[in-house]
Amino acid sequence: MIAIIGGGVTGLSAAWWLARAGHPVTVFERFIVGWEASGRNGGGATHYQSPLFHEEQRLWPMMDELLGYPTEYRRRRIVINLTQEDEARYRSMALLTRAMGYDSEELDIKQLRELAPLVTEQALSAQYFHFGGHANPQRTVQAYAWALQDHGGRILQHTGVDGFVTRNGRVVEILAGGHSHGCDAVVIAAGPQTAPLLAQLGVDLPLAAARAEMIVTEALPLMPVGGVDGNGLYGRQTLRGNLAYGGGPHEWLDDDAYRQPARPTTPLLRNLSARLATLFPRAAHARVLRSWAGIIENTPDGRPVIDRLSSPDNVTVATLSSVGFGLSPATGRAIAELVTTGACSFADIAKLGLGRFAGLPADWRAARGWQALVPA
Ligand SMILES: Cc1cc2nc3c(=O)[nH]c(=O)nc-3n(C[C@H](O)[C@H](O)[C@H](O)COP(=O)(O)OP(=O)(O)OC[C@H]3O[C@@H](n4cnc5c(N)ncnc54)[C@H](O)[C@@H]3O)c2cc1C
Repeated sequence: MIAIIGGGVTGLSAAWWLARAGHPVTVFERFIVGWEASGRNGGGATHYQSPLFHEEQRLWPMMDELLGYPTEYRRRRIVINLTQEDEARYRSMALLTRAMGYDSEELDIKQLRELAPLVTEQALSAQYFHFGGHANPQRTVQAYAWALQDHGGRILQHTGVDGFVTRNGRVVEILAGGHSHGCDAVVIAAGPQTAPLLAQLGVDLPLAAARAEMIVTEALPLMPVGGVDGNGLYGRQTLRGNLAYGGGPHEWLDDDAYRQPARPTTPLLRNLSARLATLFPRAAHARVLRSWAGIIENTPDGRPVIDRLSSPDNVTVATLSSVGFGLSPATGRAIAELVTTGACSFADIAKLGLGRFAGLPADWRAARGWQALVPA
């Protein structure tokens, strides 16, 4: 049995890829599937800086069919340039991605109004990326979970993993829910909890967690393109018409604070609402219906870690920082290959290895200013 620790999109996708290839898998989830970042994120799937970008872009348009359940994936993104800095940044993104074979065009205000009528006319310009996109995180979690069970995979919810039994350099048992479960291989994809779980195996994973928040407005008339970013915000218009948006500033948490699910308890919500009203002035009257917080675990360079350990050598680790939702179809496939063959055949993921943090000074968090505020 292959034990997957964590029922977020990373663990579920890996479990689904393994189950559809005929491997026996069990997902151990301490709460319910998608309870943490995977059910709380913006749904964006445009990670052109990742070595898994091509696979992300290749797989998403097929995911509903492959999974057999809807993810509400929509291709294409518009990025609004409100400042000259935005314009320079997204023009260079357009150049870079065009060189990688992905189309985009610059929109004038009239074209922008046709595609995204709620957007401000104060924009300098906008980039229309004919790639990338977004999906519904809740739907996607559900789709992975149902699909992996269709292939015979098991999900044990409310079953947190407490420890491991190792023998001859391998993990041979998972201790979870008061029971011991024999296993042939392990995937640790437990979000911020990946670090303490790895510490039990004597492996150091440098992570710092931050709280990020999102808001959802009342439903508004549907725009022809629902994936619009700008003013430091990311998100989407849902198929019902609600604007679901998040975006910094993030609040750094200390290690203890992120052992419980995050709650939206901060003035960030007011900040998000004000910036959303600037980006979408025709939606400024809409009430905020819901808000929530989620935790993003960050490595020192902000990139994911996807790696198979050398000791214990049957453990694969994956922690995705702020990019794990969109990359999940590709990440799951990469993890499945690491588990079964020890290497990823379709992308060079060497730079996502854990070894890059060897020799990191102990005070790396302080050096980056990534420390929780101490209450006065
Ligand atoms: C507000 C917000 C907005 C975001 N927006 C985007 C976006 O637009 N696009 C994008 O790509 N990414 C986005 N992200 C990041 C993305 O959500 C994460 O990278 C992704 O969900 C990580 O998935 P995961 O499965 O690796 O981890 P998680 O979703 O954290 O799942 C880990 C799971 O492990 C479980 N677990 C923990 N410890 C144990 C244990 N001991 N035993 C068993 N289970 C355990 C947890 O309960 C959890 O369900 C956003 C994140 C947030 C918070």
